[in-house]
Parts: sequence; structure tokens; C-alpha cells
Amino acid sequence: MENNVIKEVLITMDQIEKRCEEMGEMISKAYAGKSVLLVGLLKGSVPFMAELIKHLHGDIEIDFMDVSSYEGTESIGDIKINKDLDQSIKGLNILLVEDIVDTGRTLKTVKTLMYNKGAADVKIVTLLDKPDRRIVDVDCDYVGFEIPDAFVVGFGLDYNQKYRQLPLVGILDERVYTK
Ligand code: 5GP
Repeated sequence: MENNVIKEVLITMDQIEKRCEEMGEMISKAYAGKSVLLVGLLKGSVPFMAELIKHLHGDIEIDFMDVSSYEGTESIGDIKINKDLDQSIKGLNILLVEDIVDTGRTLKTVKTLMYNKGAADVKIVTLLDKPDRRIVDVDCDYVGFEIPDAFVVGFGLDYNQKYRQLPLVGILDERVYTK
């Protein structure tokens, strides 16, 4: 399947595994002696969350949220919560887990929401970052890979809900859009 839809492989599974191990070590050190709730944003963060937590030591818990932006709006803060967290986050250290940061709108909004819900601290880990596309200023504390401004799929990232299962990150062939 990869041969038909991927124009260029940007990151291999081997690279993803190595980087998750490195990030896991960094995050474990940063949270040594503290508890942290990892909050994954559905659905794209699922493979990354699974790979990353293999390398986290210490007191960690995981939860997931599903948010979407209201169509046709450009303003920050207009997100719809399709699935909220299962627990109160008052006083907790939160690490938001995202597949990719593009304009930055989603994470900026969710980060603000976490503080509004009483989180003590909110940090961000993302597998991919497209810095050229940033519109809203958001600090990513841990970034797996910076990538160019191209539409990518694989390892959680979809096109019309497909290709999330690919064991790589690659640029989608334009022929897929025009079929
Ligand atoms: P932001 O709010 O930062 O603009 O958007 C982040 C979301 O946009 C990601 O969670 C992802 O769902 C989507 N997104 C941004 N760039 C890409 C991309 O290159 N490929 C895919 N599949 N989704 C993307």
C-alpha cells in the first residue's frame, strides 16, 4: 500500500522508535519524583502515545480527549469537545501528546482549557512539528521531528481516516486527492 500512496518517506519506523526512546528519557528525567497525566488528542496521537510510554519511568497515567474545531471559524477558543477527560485535572501536571503541530491553534486552545480546568502545569510533546505553518504562538516542550510544509500521513496521521496504520511518516501522493 505504501508504494501506491506515499510520494516520499520522511521518517522511518526505526527513526520513530529511536526518537521516542530519546524523548522518553528526557521526559522521565524532567518529571522525576513527580506524577504526570499524559493527555493524548484522538485519534492521531494513539500510535505515538503507545510508543512513547514504553520509555517513560515513574508515576504516569494516560487519558484521551477528542476535540475538533468548529467549521468555518478562524478564531482561537472555538473548539468542540467530542470526548472529555475521564477525571478532574485540578492540581495535576499535564503532558499533552499530539501527532503534529501545524498552525498551533489546537494545542494553544487545549492548553488554555487545561489551565482553566485547574491543571498545575501543562507541557506539550509532539511527534511532528511544521514550524513554517505556525499562526498561533505555542511552545512545544518536546518535538520528535521538524518537517517541511507538506501533507503527511502514517503513524497515526490520516487522510480521510485512512493510512493511520502505516509504520512510517510520509508525504501523501497528490494522485490520492485527485482520484
Ligand atoms: P493545528 O491546530 O496545529 O493547525 O492542527 C493540528 C491538527 O491538524 C493535527 O492534529 C492534525 O489532525 C491536522 N494536521 C495538520 N497537518 C497535518 C498533516 O500534514 N497531515 C495530517 N494527516 N494531518 C495534519
